[in-house]
Amino acid sequence: MAEYANIIVDIYQGKLDKTFQYRVPERLRSTIAVGMLVAVPFGSRKMQGYVIELTDVCEYEEDKIKEILSIVKGGVLIESQMIALAGWMRENYGGTMNHALKTVLPVKEKKKAKEQKTIRLALHPVEAKNELAECERKHKTARAKLLVALLEQRELEWETVTQQMSVSASVIRAMEEAGIVKVVRKTAYRNPVGGLDPGGEQKKLNEEQQNVVSKITMEYDAGERKTYLIKGVTGSGKTEVYMELIAHVLAQGKQAIVLIPEIALTYQTVRRFYNRFGAQVSIINSKLSAGERYDQFERAKNGEISVMIGPRSALFTPFPALGIIIIDEEHEASYKSETVPRYHARETAIQRAKMTDAVVVLGSATPSLESYYKAENDEYCLLELKHRVQKRPMPLCEIIDLREELRRGNRSILSDRLSELMEDRLKKGEQTMLFINRRGMAGFVSCRACGHVIKCPHCDVSLSQHGSGAATRLVCHYCGYTTIQPGLCPVCGSKYISGFKAGTQKIEQVVKARFPQARVLRMDMDTTRIKDGYEQILSAFSNHEADILIGTQMIVKGHDFPGVTLVGVLAADLSLYISDYRASERTFQLLTQAAGRAGRGDIPGNVIIQTYDPDHYSITTAKEQNYEAFYGQEIEYRKMMRYPPVWNMLYILCASKNEAAASEAAVALMGKIDQIVRENSEKIFPIGPSDAPVAKISDVYRKVIYVKTREYQTLVILKDGLEAFIKDNRLYQNVAVGFDFNPVNGF
Ligand code: ADP
Ligand code: ZN
Ligand code: ZN
Repeated sequence: MAEYANIIVDIYQGKLDKTFQYRVPERLRSTIAVGMLVAVPFGSRKMQGYVIELTDVCEYEEDKIKEILSIVKGGVLIESQMIALAGWMRENYGGTMNHALKTVLPVKEKKKAKEQKTIRLALHPVEAKNELAECERKHKTARAKLLVALLEQRELEWETVTQQMSVSASVIRAMEEAGIVKVVRKTAYRNPVGGLDPGGEQKKLNEEQQNVVSKITMEYDAGERKTYLIKGVTGSGKTEVYMELIAHVLAQGKQAIVLIPEIALTYQTVRRFYNRFGAQVSIINSKLSAGERYDQFERAKNGEISVMIGPRSALFTPFPALGIIIIDEEHEASYKSETVPRYHARETAIQRAKMTDAVVVLGSATPSLESYYKAENDEYCLLELKHRVQKRPMPLCEIIDLREELRRGNRSILSDRLSELMEDRLKKGEQTMLFINRRGMAGFVSCRACGHVIKCPHCDVSLSQHGSGAATRLVCHYCGYTTIQPGLCPVCGSKYISGFKAGTQKIEQVVKARFPQARVLRMDMDTTRIKDGYEQILSAFSNHEADILIGTQMIVKGHDFPGVTLVGVLAADLSLYISDYRASERTFQLLTQAAGRAGRGDIPGNVIIQTYDPDHYSITTAKEQNYEAFYGQEIEYRKMMRYPPVWNMLYILCASKNEAAASEAAVALMGKIDQIVRENSEKIFPIGPSDAPVAKISDVYRKVIYVKTREYQTLVILKDGLEAFIKDNRLYQNVAVGFDFNPVNGF
C-alpha cells in the first residue's frame, strides 16, 4: 500500500505535469486509488485534486510533506475514470503519467468558444405580416427585408443577416427593442457533422444479423458485460448490426463510441450513422484542431451527443454513462498508438468498459490473431455472420503463378488472365480495382524464376537489402544476422534474383499503354496529398467517372463500390516478406479485404491474385476465404516461434545522436535484463541488441532489444525494473529509452 500520492489540482489548464505530493494517512491507504478526488491542504487553503499516481518514493522533504485530508465522495466521476484509465495505460505500456494524461484528457483551448447568434421572429406570423406592410409603407427597407426573410425561414444566422443581407446591427437592435425579433445567443460548439440531413429508410435485419443482435442485447439486459468478436465476411452487414446495438443502449439512456480506422472514416460511413441517429452523432478525426476536439468532448460530457465516431483517440470521449464501445475492422494496425504511451485501442477499450460497465464489440472479416486466439480461449465471445446480405455470392478467386508467366515470356506486371478479364470489364462497362501492396518495398530479395525469398535462419523473417553494388549485404532486423547478397538464386540458380520494385505510378503507365481507351484513376500518397484528395478520388470512382482504380492498401479498406466486378492483386507476395512476424497475417487480411471489394452489387465478382508463391498458406486460404484454415496454420507458427499472441513480446528501443552511447546503453540494459532473467523463475527470452529496422532516423541511432515471455505481466514487471535502472543512471543521460508491448508497426 502506497505511502504517498501525487496530486493534480487543476487538470484542465494543460499543466498536467504540475503535481504535488502528499502523504496518504494510514486510514485511507486501503481505499485510495488513482483517479480519486481528494481534499488537500494547499497553502493556507483547502483544495480538491485528483490522485494521479501512488508511490512509495518520497519526492519531497519528508518532514514538510502534508497529509491528504479526505476522499471526496461523489467526485466528478468521468474525470476520475479517465485518470484511472491513464494510470492503467502508464502501468501497461510504459511512459510517464503526464504522457498518459495528455492522451486521455483533452486540453482546454485558451480561446473562448465562439458565441453563435441567431435571429427569430418575436411576433406571430400574422402580426409580422402587418408589421411588414407597415414597414413597406414607411419605406423602412432594411426592416422589411429582414421580415420577409424571417417569414420564409424561422431562424437566420446573425452573420447571414448582417453580411449577406446588409441589415445593420443597429436596425436589428431597434427591432429587438420593439419586440419584433428576438436575438438568440448560444455558445457554439463546432459540430463537424452539422449540415447533414437525417433520413433514409432503415434496413430490416436478416436472420443472421438478428441472431447476433439478440444475443448481445439479451446478455446486456441481463447485466452481463463481455467482449464480443463479430467475425463477419465482407458485405455481411456488420454496420447494420452495430447500429442496432447502439440503438439498444441509447434507448436505455447510455452512450456509444464507435472506432473506425481513419482511412475508412469517409462521408459515406458517417452518413449511414447520421441517417439513423441524427444530431446525436458526432465525429472526431485527426484533422480537427485541439480546440475542436475539446468542443466535441464537451458536447459529449454535456449530453448534447450520444454517439461518437472516430479513430483510436475517440475512445477517450468522456461520456458519463458509456454503454457500448464498438471497434470496427478491429485487426487494423492503426489501433495501436505509435507515440507514447504506445497503447492498443482494443485492450484499452476493454479496460475502459470494465471501469464503466460497458460492453465491447469487435468486428472484422479477418480478426486479428490476438482476438481470435482470445475467442478460442473463451476470453471473448465469438459471433459469426457467414453470408453476405441479400444472398450476394462471394467473389470467384483465382491464383496466377507469376513464375509461370515469366516462363511463358510474359514479363509484364499484368498476367494474361488479368488482362483478359480487364478487357472484358471494359467492354461491359464494369469497373476494375488494381491493388499493389507497397508496404513490402522494404527491400526483400526474391527470385522471380522460382519465388524463393532469402530469409534469416534464426528468425524466419525475410532479410533486408542494405548498401549497393559490391557492398550489398542482407540483414535481419530481429537478430542482426548479416550475409552477402547472392548473385544466383541458391535454390534454382536463376540470375533473376533481386529486390522487387513496382510502384503505383509504374502500374498506371503499364495499364494506360495496354488499355489506351480506359479511364484510369490512381490513389496513393502522391494523389491524396491535396486537401480532400482521398475523398475526391473515391467519389469520382464511385460515380463511375473511371473504369480502373489503381492503388495501395488505401483502396481496400471497407469501401462499398457496387460497380466493381474485378479486383486484381498485382503481387500478393509483397506483403509476405516484410521483416515482421505478422507478414502472413497482413497478407491474408489484405487479400481477403481486397477480394471483398469485388461483386458487392448484383453482379458477382472475380478476383485475380498474382503471386510468385502460389502455395503459401496465407494466399491459398485467402483464395478460399477460409479464415479458420489460415488461423490454424498461423497459430502453430506463432507457437513454434514464440511470437504473440501465444507469447508476449516487448521491444525496447535505445535512441541517441551518439551511436556509441546508444550501443553502450543498450548493452547495459541487456546486462540488467539478463540479471532479471536469472532471478526469475519464468522463462524469459531476450534477443539483441541489434540495429532497429530503420537503424538511423535524422541522425539519431536506434538499437533494439526484444524480449519474449509467456505472461504479459512478466513484461510489465521487467519494464518497471528497467525504468528504475534507467532513472538517475548517467548512461541514459543522452539516450532515450522507449518500450513497446506486442508492437504492431515496429519501431
Ligand atoms: P460489412 O461492414 O459487413 O462489409 P455493411 O454493413 O457495409 O457490410 O453492409 C453491406 C451493404 O449491405 C450495405 O450497403 C448495407 O446497407 C447493406 N445491408 C446491410 N444489412 C442489410 C439488410 N439486412 N438488408 C439489406 N441490405 C443490407
Ligand atoms: Zn530461384
Ligand atoms: Zn534473425
